[in-house]
Amino acid sequence: MKEIDKKYDSNSFTHFGAKTVPISKKTNLVKEVFNSVSAKYDLMNDLMSIGLHRKWKNEIIKKIKLRDQLKILDVACGTGDVTSKISKEAQKKNLNVELFSIDITNSMIKIGRDRCTNAGLMNNIHWINGDGTALPIKNQSIDVYIIAFGIRNFTNQTLALKEAYRVLRPGGQFLCLEFSKINSNFQKIYDLYSFNFIPFLGRLIVNDQESYQYLVESIRKFPSQKEFSNSLTNAGFNKVKYMNLNEGIAAIHSCWKI
Ligand code: SAM
Repeated sequence: MKEIDKKYDSNSFTHFGAKTVPISKKTNLVKEVFNSVSAKYDLMNDLMSIGLHRKWKNEIIKKIKLRDQLKILDVACGTGDVTSKISKEAQKKNLNVELFSIDITNSMIKIGRDRCTNAGLMNNIHWINGDGTALPIKNQSIDVYIIAFGIRNFTNQTLALKEAYRVLRPGGQFLCLEFSKINSNFQKIYDLYSFNFIPFLGRLIVNDQESYQYLVESIRKFPSQKEFSNSLTNAGFNKVKYMNLNEGIAAIHSCWKI
């Protein structure tokens, strides 16, 4: 621990990737990361995951039973990748769903809004600049809460789950796609790839190695599939299940507020 850290007890501190930072600073540091990468965020996702993130997002969206008047909350929506996929799917099926897409970083939301406007998908999407741990959403007003690669970045994940539970109506569905723990010999190759190639790519494409170093480190800090399932149960959710994607590089957790 650095000298400065010793002045505080561990309750005042949290992790920011591999670093230890004051709790009060983390959310702003996360915002800085996403502000810095927003313009090239989608390109980087494609390059880093060799397009796999698209397949994973399609998998989580398949778990939603789309119907007319469904209210869907996309938390940490970023550049609106999940929002636009759901909206396209609803349009294809001629369904009228309402989307609330929330993110703490304005520059990410702006790209999402422009993308959906250009694709003619603006009907019924509300773009909101807000924090997933203090949602500006009424109690029990949402049918589906979805979060993709977001919760790992939150300063207080327990509070985020409490908020998810609060805004969901009874019978509402919670869905989370997040990087997870690999369960095979593939781990060594994955570590080599992620700790070397991803920060290098960040420097090459975005001229920002540090943000992508944070990304890789934050993945290692996120709880395992089972630990996150326990957090969901503790938050009050029922029928908690998870599904590994590509050996557990990512996982989808799904559960219900009953
Ligand atoms: N969901 C999008 C996707 O899958 O492409 C974006 C994921 S991106 C890795 C993480 C997003 O979480 C960023 O846009 C960031 O601004 C947002 N974020 C981080 N902390 C947040 C918080 N406390 N509340 C809301 N959004 C947050």
